[in-house]
Amino acid sequence: MSYVDEVLAQVKTKNANEPEFLQAVEEVLNSLRPVIEANEEKYRKEAILERITEPDRQLMFRVPWVDDNGQVQVNRGFRVQFNNAIGPYKGGLRLHPSVNLGIIKFLGFEQIFKNSLTSLPIGGGKGGSDFDPKGKSDREIMAFCQSFMTELCKYIGADTDVPAGDIGTGAREIGFMFGQYKRIRGLYEGVLTGKGLSYGGSLARTEATGYGLLYLTREMLKCNGQDIAGKTVVVSGAGNVATYAIQKAQQMGAKPVTCSDSTGWIYDPEGIDVALLKEVKEVKRARLTEYAAARPSAEYHEGRGVWSVKCDVALPCATQNELDIEDAKQLVANGVIAVAEGANMPTTLEATKYLQENGVLFAPGKAANAGGVATSALEMSQNSERLSWSFEEVDSKLENIMINIFHNLDDAAKRYGVAGDYVAGANIAGFEKVVDAMLAQGVC
Ligand code: NDP
Repeated sequence: MSYVDEVLAQVKTKNANEPEFLQAVEEVLNSLRPVIEANEEKYRKEAILERITEPDRQLMFRVPWVDDNGQVQVNRGFRVQFNNAIGPYKGGLRLHPSVNLGIIKFLGFEQIFKNSLTSLPIGGGKGGSDFDPKGKSDREIMAFCQSFMTELCKYIGADTDVPAGDIGTGAREIGFMFGQYKRIRGLYEGVLTGKGLSYGGSLARTEATGYGLLYLTREMLKCNGQDIAGKTVVVSGAGNVATYAIQKAQQMGAKPVTCSDSTGWIYDPEGIDVALLKEVKEVKRARLTEYAAARPSAEYHEGRGVWSVKCDVALPCATQNELDIEDAKQLVANGVIAVAEGANMPTTLEATKYLQENGVLFAPGKAANAGGVATSALEMSQNSERLSWSFEEVDSKLENIMINIFHNLDDAAKRYGVAGDYVAGANIAGFEKVVDAMLAQGVC
């Protein structure tokens, strides 16, 4: 049995109840086969794959808090510190009822390679809770965040582990958590990113993931003889990533015509009105029905369905496994030329394979959405220097990082004889640097 197959079998036995984690490991290890086969004896002896698929540590803890009726509620908190070979653990905190250990592990595992691809010194980690922020008052959110941080603060720090936002964790939640960290630890340090601008946040962090997605997509198209300007773009999600992806696509002369949330989706043939979308989602925190009510050109549909809209470029920006094989078939039938993942693992393995086999340019999330974590690392740099850079300075660094990421993965794919397979390229480029550092640091 090959080394990859042996380790895949072990990982399956050890983590049988964690389908998302298994999916991520399978995708990564399968695409790393060319590199691993070229170094099989050495990697096997050093147990590189066993070490890289086992988190350094995984923390699970009780998060008790009191709701507005005086009732005590209990949630489960997580932080998985996966790998710190190239820098302090870095990765977001997801607050969503679907959160469990397997989802946090899948996200933490992916984060190792994504962070490595940015070429910045950050390791991989992820955390969160099954707490649902929807419908909670500000006081309830604060009570939860303070309780969550009361436990988490024992394990994180500016040089050890620096969490950030993710689904359900925005500026409000980061603010409450930062306040509690400072209060308990007595330290004013860059322990979280995604902070408000008045207390150490970075300009352009809010826009970074969506903007970065478009910088990389534009470069991928350019290197394949296509121009983003004039393209029709279909976007899923209506949160942080989707909103700023739509905004940057418009600035580049493309036309995004859809967005979605967990209950329905919008088709707006005139192009999405970003100001209205922000008003509905960021200010009112309302459903997309309100967007449709305020915009005559928009159609609202219940359920899912954005991938049925004819487009040149598809950008899944909501959540994992939201683009399946049937969606992929429909996109291909409608002539899509590129799919770039704004969310983490939004495309199923089967759908990814189908898209690639049908000649669609496919940029995986760990490369395409790395702009968020890259800018978080730029926030860490600014905090360490006690300086704030201008929006333009951060944005231009972000643009360069995304262009470099694309070329790194393009080169890695070519080096291993899988030119144009950007999934393999991203995994290989991210893996090589981490493994180099692991080997240099001995058995640990
Ligand atoms: P937000 O919480 O801001 O937005 C998420 C959007 O996706 C919302 O519109 C939400 O709908 C929708 N959504 C969430 N879960 C589901 C579901 N199960 N089914 C359908 N729709 C759903 O999150 P972000 O925009 O920050 O994150 C989106 C994705 O991007 C995630 O995969 C995240 O891990 C990834 N990502 C985010 C980064 C960042 O910087 N923010 C960085 C890198 C990756 P509703 O409004 O109804 O809740």
